[in-house]
Amino acid sequence: MISKKDNVGQPILSISDVTKHYPIREGALQRVVGHVRAVDGVSFDIFPGKTVGLVGESGCGKSTLGKVVAGLTDPTSGSVRYNFNNQLVSISSLEKNKFKNFRRNCQMVFQDSFASLNPRHLVFDIVGRPLKVYKEVSGYDLVEKVVSLLNQVGLGREHLYRYPHQFSGGQRQRISIARALALNPEIIILDEPTSALDVSVQAQILNLLNELQKARNLAYLFVTHDLSVVRHMADSLVVMYLGKIAEAGETQAIFAKPYHPYTKALMDAKPSFDEGQNSKAKGLDGVVPDPARPPQGCRFHTRCSLATDKCGWEVDDVVRWLEDTPGMFESLTAVERKSEFSAVLSFSDESSAANLKQEIGDLSRITSWIRVFGMVNSASGYDEQHIVINGFSELVLEVFGPDVGRHSRSAIGVAGLPMNLAIEIEGEVLIK
Ligand code: ADP
Ligand code: MG
Repeated sequence: MISKKDNVGQPILSISDVTKHYPIREGALQRVVGHVRAVDGVSFDIFPGKTVGLVGESGCGKSTLGKVVAGLTDPTSGSVRYNFNNQLVSISSLEKNKFKNFRRNCQMVFQDSFASLNPRHLVFDIVGRPLKVYKEVSGYDLVEKVVSLLNQVGLGREHLYRYPHQFSGGQRQRISIARALALNPEIIILDEPTSALDVSVQAQILNLLNELQKARNLAYLFVTHDLSVVRHMADSLVVMYLGKIAEAGETQAIFAKPYHPYTKALMDAKPSFDEGQNSKAKGLDGVVPDPARPPQGCRFHTRCSLATDKCGWEVDDVVRWLEDTPGMFESLTAVERKSEFSAVLSFSDESSAANLKQEIGDLSRITSWIRVFGMVNSASGYDEQHIVINGFSELVLEVFGPDVGRHSRSAIGVAGLPMNLAIEIEGEVLIK
């Protein structure tokens, strides 16, 4: 997903196949009657000094994922691995001291500065607290250190002994940022850091974050519902819908050519400020479905302008289609069912697999895949991988192969496909 060429070297955080399901309890006995699938199999990497923009509508699981990444809550499955001396180690397996070390290196800034800044504490106590807790400095040095942090966020000595309510929203966010910087972290998770601010103040905070990133080589996970906020901020984007990645890749590539209808809809949801563009917002109709009962097939199909009646297909529907198509069923040799939406179908000949692909190709939403195939060149060296056609459903390809690396094992955005990868349909099609 996040292109290899721009991210030479190791990630600082690696998120693999993370899920977070919240139990739903009912009745006097508080029996578990279901699960809210807030995050449902998400993988991506964060590189030093770079920004990953995590985008999606409210309720898509962004904050939950942010908390899992920060180690504030454990994932239901999957792992968050942190780079300790060039080795990725799962944060849930860290012993106490190392976990503390991770926590000081990975800070969070929240949207709501009223809730996250204690109203009864002075700015000096708020910003100085992490330094005290970690016994970094004390006494006069502490005052000077806090002043220096305030200076870095555009505040000064005169603000030391005031309370949060005496500041404007933008200034309060500066205080939150100063507190996050106190322990000199490598990563900051910013959860909607500018969403509560006026547009002009928003721009000032974004500038500040940009400057701090350059000066300190900070990595950001920038969580926002507003794609336009991260356009000039994020090096790469992860677009989330109902707990899953819809599309991921380099920011510029995604803005130049979004593949997923959801990404397109998010872009349309905001008037464009680009010159010459008509700023009529189309946006998204309806609301995000209940994550406790996500739609079958593609999660987005209930709201997708390109959806066809096959978008909600499950494995059984595919098999039924094969049964009804002359010559196809005979060449189907195995169905390895992984879930109702996921199976490996094996055929005795390549042409049947190709026929199935053709059937998918007939859907209007699949034409993008064909274009993706066109983008891909050079056939050498990658004979092991096969294409995974991810759903009659999601416009996401998965490719397995030795050189593709970990990202590709779960939803890799089409925009992030390595350019030198050859894709060939073999006698096997995996429908997920
Ligand atoms: P976002 O930040 O994208 O708006 P959230 O991560 O806050 O999304 O929420 C994703 C889903 O998980 C929502 O449906 C929300 O109601 C649910 N959720 C979040 N936190 C909890 C929790 N502690 N218990 C149960 N459900 C939760
Ligand atoms: Mg949120």
